[in-house]
Amino acid sequence: MLTAIKKDGTWITLPEKMTANLLAELRMSTDYYCPCCKAEMTIKAGMIKIPHFAHKNNSSCRASSEPESAYHLMGKRKLFHWFLSHHYQADLEAYLPEIRKRADILLTIGGIRYAVEFQCSVISETEFIERTNAYQSVGIKPIWILAAKHLKRRNLHEFSLSGFHWLFVTGSYHHPFLWMYCPVTNQLSALKNLTPFSPRNVFAELTTASLVILPPSQISPRNCF
Ligand SMILES: [Zn+2]
Repeated sequence: MLTAIKKDGTWITLPEKMTANLLAELRMSTDYYCPCCKAEMTIKAGMIKIPHFAHKNNSSCRASSEPESAYHLMGKRKLFHWFLSHHYQADLEAYLPEIRKRADILLTIGGIRYAVEFQCSVISETEFIERTNAYQSVGIKPIWILAAKHLKRRNLHEFSLSGFHWLFVTGSYHHPFLWMYCPVTNQLSALKNLTPFSPRNVFAELTTASLVILPPSQISPRNCF
């Protein structure tokens, strides 16, 4: 996690890179607590580790999916800054006490809330449906973005899709597609015109563009923001 609550009740988001001095200062200055389970957290950082918070003790925290990969931490931060740079009201790792879930990014647009989930680890269909239903039960529209590293390309227009991939397929019956993002290249991709030709394989068209030139309205369901 990139955010935590300080002893005085204020929130903190860790910067992308930290000097040893800043790390020492942050560790010394206060204690940190999980926004969900209130357990104490510690800052982890190192030569290759992205600075992040982790529960001090083995936790059964419902909002936590530790250990989070650097790919996930980097991705949600970049997507968050993408929304901020286009002046969206966005919260990183927003904790929703009413459903005890933590959205990677919570967008509020015209009074409507959207939970943007950048999914890097493989989750079960049951978990996917449970999260989707939980958001919908409180009027939040989920927007699922799959980690691009999961894409299995066989050749130019042939891709292997497992049941896990199909969870992320959105759009209409006639125009199904799925969103993917790669934090390393900072590119958002859409796999469009999915046409299954065997149980595991589809013909599809992949379009990719840098977040630098794309507006966030691209990922809006039916262009409603
Ligand atoms: Zn927790």
